[in-house]
Amino acid sequence: MKSAFIYTSKFDTYSLGEHHPFKPYKATMVHELCYRYGLFNEPWISIEEPVPAPEEAALEYHSKEYMGVLKDANSGSFDFTMLEHGLGTGDNPVFKGVYDFSLLVLGATLLGTELMASRKADVIFSPVGGLHHAGYDHAEGFCYINDIVIAIKRLLKSGFRKILYIDIDAHHGNGVQDAFYDTDEVLTISFHQNGETLYPWGGFENETGTGKGTGYNVNVPLPEYTDDESYVQIFRSLYTPLVQAFKPDCVVAQIGLDTLKRDPLTNLRLTNNGYTEVIEEIRKSCPKVLALGGGGYSVPDVVRGWTLAWAVLNDLKPYDPYQGLVSGVMLPQGQGYEDLRDPPYHLAEKIRHDVQLYLKGKADYIKEKIFPLHGIR
Ligand SMILES: [Zn+2]
Repeated sequence: MKSAFIYTSKFDTYSLGEHHPFKPYKATMVHELCYRYGLFNEPWISIEEPVPAPEEAALEYHSKEYMGVLKDANSGSFDFTMLEHGLGTGDNPVFKGVYDFSLLVLGATLLGTELMASRKADVIFSPVGGLHHAGYDHAEGFCYINDIVIAIKRLLKSGFRKILYIDIDAHHGNGVQDAFYDTDEVLTISFHQNGETLYPWGGFENETGTGKGTGYNVNVPLPEYTDDESYVQIFRSLYTPLVQAFKPDCVVAQIGLDTLKRDPLTNLRLTNNGYTEVIEEIRKSCPKVLALGGGGYSVPDVVRGWTLAWAVLNDLKPYDPYQGLVSGVMLPQGQGYEDLRDPPYHLAEKIRHDVQLYLKGKADYIKEKIFPLHGIR
């Protein structure tokens, strides 16, 4: 196996605004923490530096008109016509370098697809990619260019015939769903906080695809308070049979970490222990995985979680050489690897019961309506 971590410090030069929750510098923090824990030391691991994608790459999905408006926004000055394309809102501000930043994110993700297609890497992680909400002709949900859609299209063009897209961000992967809703070449699975309680207000279980794509779009809405135990249980019961039946050539995973209980924008209750169990399931499901960061707004928690995810993707145990030593003071045992792990979290029994009842309803629906279309009994 070969693996690649895609990273450039140039992400740090862009800001969506001081008070905007999406922080491109997360990538640098993950890079640093992985480095500190020895997670780049193995001979099969490389760090690859991306360059911005050319505009033509964005046109493989987005409209020419939208890309023109995004280019105009690059100076950082807003005009009202931009609102027609979702630009200049609180979620998608017009900021200096918005077009350059978006093409750099796309360049990073497409470097991942090149490494995958040329067999130079089997497991790839690009922390700033995974902007799953961007639409054909508009920005939304902090996303300007849908790097995921373009990456999947590229992989299909370069000889991969069946791609499984798994989205574990707390928000529904609406932009990716829309792009592949009528095809059976891409099996799209999204686990997310339900659309009754969270943006983008959709992603219901009865959105199952259309035409040839019927049964190839799977939405698993989660109730507020979903915790590690419930999440891992429903993930295993649905993802695992589907991936075994579909037999993808490659998995593209949006591994957003806004499912954590401290995330300020969502209402799920995961810890990074449940999260890493899910990453492990994804890793085991296919030898080729392109992982893209996506959301996550409690930055220090996201950074620890993605460091653990990188370790799991490489089957490594993080090791901190500074364990026990901070400013020359010996700390108690368990400050190294344990440092990255969240303490366990338990729901009150009544809430846990309600969460599990809700999830059973969703799982039963998917098993009844979608499993038979894939020959799963
Ligand atoms: Zn999200």
